[in-house]
Amino acid sequence: MFLRLSPLLLIATLAFAAVPPGVPRDLARQRAAEISSLRYHVSFVLAPHAATIAGHEELSFTLQSAQPVLLDYRDGTVQRMTVNGAEMAAVPESGHLELPANKLRAGENTVIFDFTSAVAPAGKPITRYQDKDDGSEYIYTLFVPMDASMAFPCFDQPDLKGRFRLEITAPQDWTIISNTEATGSEPAGAGQARTVFGETRPISTYLFAFAAGPFRKVERPGVLDLPGLYVRKSKWKRAENEATEVQQIAKQGMAYLSSYFAQPFPFPKYDMVLIPGFPYGGMEHAGATFLREESVLFRTAPTHSDLLGRDLLVLHELTHQWFGDLTTMRWFDDLWLKEGFAQYMAYQALDALKPTENIWKRFYLSIKPAAYEIDATQGTTPIYQDIPNLKDAKSAYGAIVYSKAPGMLKQLAYVLGAENFRDGLRLYLKEHLYGNAEWSDLVHAFERVSGQKLDRWADMWIRHRGMPQVDASWSCRDGQIDQFSLAQHDVLGGGNLWPIATEVLLAYDGTTPGLRFRASFDTASASFRQPLGQPCPLYVFANDQDYAYGRFLLDPRSRQAVVRQLGNVRDVFLRAMLWGSLWESVRVAQMEPRRYISLARDLLPQERDELLLRSTAAHALTALHRYVNSSARGEFVPAFERMADDRMLHSTQKDLRILWFRILGAVVETPAGRGYLRDLLDGKLLVPGVELRQLDRWNLVTALIALNDPQADAVFRAEQQRDPTGDGLKYAYIAAAARPEAKTKKTYFGDYLHDPSRPEDWIEESLDAFNYWNQPELTAPYLKPALEALAQIKRERKIFFLVDWLDAFIRGQQSAAAQAQVHDFLRAPDLDPDLRLKILQAVDELDRTVKIRQTFPQ
Ligand SMILES: [Zn+2]
Repeated sequence: MFLRLSPLLLIATLAFAAVPPGVPRDLARQRAAEISSLRYHVSFVLAPHAATIAGHEELSFTLQSAQPVLLDYRDGTVQRMTVNGAEMAAVPESGHLELPANKLRAGENTVIFDFTSAVAPAGKPITRYQDKDDGSEYIYTLFVPMDASMAFPCFDQPDLKGRFRLEITAPQDWTIISNTEATGSEPAGAGQARTVFGETRPISTYLFAFAAGPFRKVERPGVLDLPGLYVRKSKWKRAENEATEVQQIAKQGMAYLSSYFAQPFPFPKYDMVLIPGFPYGGMEHAGATFLREESVLFRTAPTHSDLLGRDLLVLHELTHQWFGDLTTMRWFDDLWLKEGFAQYMAYQALDALKPTENIWKRFYLSIKPAAYEIDATQGTTPIYQDIPNLKDAKSAYGAIVYSKAPGMLKQLAYVLGAENFRDGLRLYLKEHLYGNAEWSDLVHAFERVSGQKLDRWADMWIRHRGMPQVDASWSCRDGQIDQFSLAQHDVLGGGNLWPIATEVLLAYDGTTPGLRFRASFDTASASFRQPLGQPCPLYVFANDQDYAYGRFLLDPRSRQAVVRQLGNVRDVFLRAMLWGSLWESVRVAQMEPRRYISLARDLLPQERDELLLRSTAAHALTALHRYVNSSARGEFVPAFERMADDRMLHSTQKDLRILWFRILGAVVETPAGRGYLRDLLDGKLLVPGVELRQLDRWNLVTALIALNDPQADAVFRAEQQRDPTGDGLKYAYIAAAARPEAKTKKTYFGDYLHDPSRPEDWIEESLDAFNYWNQPELTAPYLKPALEALAQIKRERKIFFLVDWLDAFIRGQQSAAAQAQVHDFLRAPDLDPDLRLKILQAVDELDRTVKIRQTFPQ
């Protein structure tokens, strides 16, 4: 062996110096092949109000051979590092720390660090929350997808799972929740205590977490085996009254999922922690799910449907404990594996636990639309998304993963049959316990249990972007069907053809039951013999039960019949899909928006299904606010105001009264309508049996401000006095963003980009008020600056912020001039390709608005 190693070492160093920021896939692959048996022993000292936290870490791992190793650590500083006992300088470069080969050996290695990482109210993975109600402080982590390396040095990739031991020193009256139970706590001087946690099972860095502060546990004396529920001290009483259902559904979900997956709950305990201002609905840390507090303790009077939505959130995060935490995607290009399944399984579990709730109708109304909306745009992506570097993994989050992937799985369950579907999942989990896997592993598991080849199916649905439009064509002779075919074409004009399996409905009048048949095809068109000779139907709908994924418009004859018959369709699931199909016809500029609005005006007062009412009213409002001109709006709005007021007061179901109250707040425009809102705030007008909550009231205040009501300022000041809580401060900030004056917009926009102390949820939740639908002239000057800020936002903000930002600023506009401005921006040659896709997704609605207005000028 030569001793003159320095030139080689230099080459190795140079090679690493060239490693860009983030975690490139090549680096991840190389590390996964070389490194194993990872153990992290991490200690943090949390000091109230400090901008940093001090940490100590002992990291041990096994190396295949002695060679340089790169660790990930960015944003913090390392005071001391020893590698196998040898102290050495540690200066992170491009977010990496290099351990040189001559200090490492084949076999076990130990690296010890003292370091300091940042903690802040926003923009950092260790977040500090100040409870303005009682002055207490909370600190929590959120590392997904690769921000653990901003908190401590680690191998920040999902397929290097480690066992973690955590110790936290914090004020002694704080409660600390982490992935495992605390095994002990001891005084650490000066009012501090040191809490020690048991070692975790092997988990990915993004699933490691803690939350600390004066949290309190919600107790249910006498009820056994419930998952723990923690909430900040000031909300504890409310949680005791309102949130115990959350524990109940989690407990039932655990029993259902353990049996369905044929795998017991994979971690030693399960807690849920309610985090105020949490940027997502929830995050599935192994054994310690964090839930957005506002998604559990409702700030508006909740309806039955809101409560079911909360059940689904709980079941989604719970499913992840198996799908994501126990078996983890190898890389974030397979993000859909965990998110698609968590969404789909949450519905399936809730359907099993609450079988009378018509859960698949809900799936159609609340999951599918978001997917179709994106998948019909030039910015859409395949479900499988290539991610060369984890720093871009945030971009993979969105409707394709959360809505299309579960929609695709629903179709797959239909193709495979329920038993094969379940057995495939069982096999997949069993073969990758506490490990990592890829989508091809799952597809192979389905193929093995079903005996069906799925390669073309998976290739088209997972690897290709976009979706088919499916059109039925049929004719009758002598009262019988004599021809029936289905045709598909690529919505984006790309010439793709998909394998499609669907259920076709031939519908008759109310007294004759409909006929159904299964149709599978993967060609541009196909004729079907099953319906030939059947009585001539009133209309045909080619995606009954919503098994298939695609745009299913009604043929002209069926559409006319449906518009006439819709009020008589008893089956609420079918009624929902027919409304949905009509709305699609509006969005492709085939059906006049006025026609849809007047149908909504005529039929909605009788609609008894809460979720269908919610969705159709939202569509009618979009059409009113965007697709028709102000004179058409003036014609409809007074009728909608009166109808909403009447139904809010006189609907027999409380949920419907709540919903009509919300519709009233959204549709009001006229002086008379604004009078209703003021009366509701004054208590002169009451929604029978409903106590308005904080946010219900603030939403009315926001509408009055946005509509420039002469009394808006007085109403705003009165509400500020009435609600001095921490939440109230945020809602006041949101409401004031709607003020229709140039000065306000300027101040807020500066705040959004340049005030690091402004909590991210305040900004995110105020974007729609800033861009209120009636203020495109005032907000137009901010369209371009909002686009120019995207790179900064992508860098600094949490996962969903960027899409919310883009949607709000682009949807604030309705004109061809604004549309041209966005398309100009898209032509910039050096635009980040990922941002280009996001902009193309967002501008689609503006493109449609302009096209609909041109097609139907009224
Ligand atoms: Zn999820």
